[in-house]
Amino acid sequence: MQRITVLGATGSIGVSTLDVIARHPQRYAVYALSAHSRVEELAAQCVQFRPARAVVGTAAAADQLAALLRAAGVNTDVAWGEQALCSIASAAEVDSVMAAIVGAAGLAPTLAAARAGKKILLANKEALVMSGQLFMDAVHESGAVLLPIDSEHNAIFQSMPQFGGKVPAVRDSAAGVAKILLTASGGPFLTRDVATLDAVTPDQACKHPNWSMGRKISVDSATMMNKGLEVIEAHWLFGAPADQIEVVIHPQSVIHSMVSYVDGSVLAQLGNPDMRTPIAHALAYPERIASGVAQLDLTQVATLQFQRPDFERFPCLALAFEALRAGGTAPALLNAANEVAVQAFLDLKIGFRQIDRVIRHVVDTLPHGAAHSIDAVIAQDAAARVAAETFIAGLAK
Ligand code: NAD
Ligand code: MG
Repeated sequence: MQRITVLGATGSIGVSTLDVIARHPQRYAVYALSAHSRVEELAAQCVQFRPARAVVGTAAAADQLAALLRAAGVNTDVAWGEQALCSIASAAEVDSVMAAIVGAAGLAPTLAAARAGKKILLANKEALVMSGQLFMDAVHESGAVLLPIDSEHNAIFQSMPQFGGKVPAVRDSAAGVAKILLTASGGPFLTRDVATLDAVTPDQACKHPNWSMGRKISVDSATMMNKGLEVIEAHWLFGAPADQIEVVIHPQSVIHSMVSYVDGSVLAQLGNPDMRTPIAHALAYPERIASGVAQLDLTQVATLQFQRPDFERFPCLALAFEALRAGGTAPALLNAANEVAVQAFLDLKIGFRQIDRVIRHVVDTLPHGAAHSIDAVIAQDAAARVAAETFIAGLAK
């Protein structure tokens, strides 16, 4: 029996994770669940999965959850705040942690799971983008197992060689990897006239052609910052230099990414665009379990297309490559500025084409340095948020 904590249980990834878990009650038990504010949804999940513990964002939400659970006769211990999140991510009773909180808020609990040597199912790419080497060091020091949930990275993981049960680094010449080919759908604005992008609404930006996801990652997909964050994520997960990561636009989202080898082979992982496939893969790894996803019918798909990304249409992708090459705390600045800009766009404070302007301003004006410690990273994250908010306030005038 694998005992699992799901961080961000009420989100898109959290719900898909619980869907897969519910299909295999003999294999998986839920130890703890977390949500930020959707207390009623979390209460319903507690009724169904009977976790020992549940964590929410505020004291008021905790009171509300406790009352709902008491009324339902469910005996789940309720707590709130970051310390409690770190506790359910690192408790001795836990085998695996699904890290599915969105944004920098997920860093502390995901890092706590890494330091405690857990099996980490990583959806929260922002945590890895921010902390990079520090996070990977924590994983290696504790002997934690890090499995990617992001569909592209899960596909790369499945397409990489294994030496003695471990995936070698891309920079290890014995692996024979020429390039990682990171596929991208191009999002909802792949072919839209660039001149009209200023006027798009949050709902239009969140209407992804192939995937149903939370609003933040949906906007990131529309700007292609999501792919930019994934380039940085791939760098850390697979030890891949920036020059060995290539983004390929593939609008059908059937090939989830590929690995191109020096002998001319290209290995890919394909499937219907449904996050339950990578979730099931990581939950059961190295075994395979049913996920509820329909088998891929290639005759139905019929056509697979590929094109190069246009860095002028998608300046956020260029910004991310720059941050990766700059190194140190530059990706933390990029990520924090992006989180603030995306929230401002969702709140109708700035236009779509101002998202990249906010990020450019922050990464160009704030000094970045070496990422010596998590505290240094968190300080840079905070400074970038202030700079982004100030710039946005100036834009609004
Ligand atoms: P979502 O918005 O649907 O859910 C986010 C979850 O995080 C919710 O449970 C919410 O309660 C929790 N949360 C939000 N703010 C919080 C805070 N301040 N403190 C604690 N918890 C908080 O997001 P999602 O689409 O499920 O994405 C989650 C993560 O997975 C993101 O990092 C995203 O990039 C990544 N991811 C998602 C998908 C997808 O298909 N949705 C695919 C790949 C990667
Ligand atoms: Mg992805």
